[in-house]
Amino acid sequence: MRIDLHTHSTVSDGTESPAVLIRTARDAGLDVVALTDHDSTAGWGPAAEAAQLEGVALIPGMEVSCRTETGISVHVLSYLHNPLNAPLMEEIQRSRDARLSRAERMVERLGADYPITWADVQEHIAEGATVGRPHIADSLVTLGIVSDRSEAFSHILTAASPYWVGHYAPHPARAVELIRQAGGVAVFAHPVASARGRVVGDDVVGQMIDAGLQGLEIEHRDNPEPGRQELRRIAAQHGLLTTGSSDYHGEGKPNRLGENLTSPAVLEQIEALATGSVVVR
Ligand code: AMP
Ligand code: FE
Ligand code: FE
Ligand code: ZN
Repeated sequence: MRIDLHTHSTVSDGTESPAVLIRTARDAGLDVVALTDHDSTAGWGPAAEAAQLEGVALIPGMEVSCRTETGISVHVLSYLHNPLNAPLMEEIQRSRDARLSRAERMVERLGADYPITWADVQEHIAEGATVGRPHIADSLVTLGIVSDRSEAFSHILTAASPYWVGHYAPHPARAVELIRQAGGVAVFAHPVASARGRVVGDDVVGQMIDAGLQGLEIEHRDNPEPGRQELRRIAAQHGLLTTGSSDYHGEGKPNRLGENLTSPAVLEQIEALATGSVVVR
């Protein structure tokens, strides 16, 4: 069984619609795929329809944007939560709104040095999608300023660049609490991905565990090997599930579907722990 528990569609910053993503997953030989768009569950419906058509099992999920008191960006994966749970939905709506105004402000700053306008960026955002820097990157590509998203993220769009603006996001321990209250299973996404920026220490991981964290995403291309060892130790110590995944973004990133996988035994436990929604088969 080939199980990939982390992918993005055009509902956030992936480049394939949910239905196309499911077909790509089938073509890649996956048996199970989780759709985990940033701060949105809007892809669940179309993905479910496609999954039943293509004979792929779908785990409805989401990747919740978080920020610590010291400004470290953290992502928490939620699987099988209730998509109608009001406190969780209100929180992700707040993040989505903040992401939109933040992107507009970044484009305003970029406009001082590059011929980019908000209208250009809007061309790259699907209706209702969670807005992120990748959409700005796509616009920079169209304008011929960079050759691809990776190049945009290597300088113009990094957190260290003068164009960078932050946005509101809940504390990761709060996100874990909200996910659990919504019947979901909470897994810390790429916990030691230092290329994304600063990573959290044992203090924040401890707060997340106290809040009900259930798993660590260990097999992910952005987690360097020494960090993975430490994560395996933490998982064993606290009885946490360990997952592997691609974090596929279509053509937006080099990550390929199925490049890391999750074991059937772990998936079984995720399914058993969740009370908010069900696997689509
Ligand atoms: P944001 O959500 O606006 O903070 O932007 C972060 C998103 O940008 C992540 O979710 C990634 O999908 C994407 N991203 C980060 N680094 C890269 C990169 N080097 N190439 C392509 N996409 C990236
Ligand atoms: Fe992303
Ligand atoms: Fe992430
Ligand atoms: Zn992701």
